[in-house]
Amino acid sequence: MIILRIPFLPAAGMALYPFILVKTAALKTNKRIINHEHIHLRQQLELLIVPFYILYLLNYLLALLYYMDHNKAYFNIVFEREAYTNEKNYDYLKHRKFWDWIRYFSPRYQSGL
Ligand SMILES: [Zn+2]
Repeated sequence: MIILRIPFLPAAGMALYPFILVKTAALKTNKRIINHEHIHLRQQLELLIVPFYILYLLNYLLALLYYMDHNKAYFNIVFEREAYTNEKNYDYLKHRKFWDWIRYFSPRYQSGL
């Protein structure tokens, strides 16, 4: 995996297949953030990249209509629910099943933030 430092990145980290982008050099060694972004790379790969971004944006827009709040909408995107739920589980990707993000539509993973 290739990690690039992008100082003007609007977030601490971002996955843009096949790259992980981070805002600062220190974040390159932040295990949790790198694992979070690695989960997104897996989601992107199994959705053949472009459909991932379309689904991500659609999910965000629908969540924004539902919650009327950017942060709640963001944390409730199914791909973010999966990544935040498992970002501290460093073996997660070793055991994760194909398209496992689907499970995160379940209300039990809803972020109340
Ligand atoms: Zn994320």
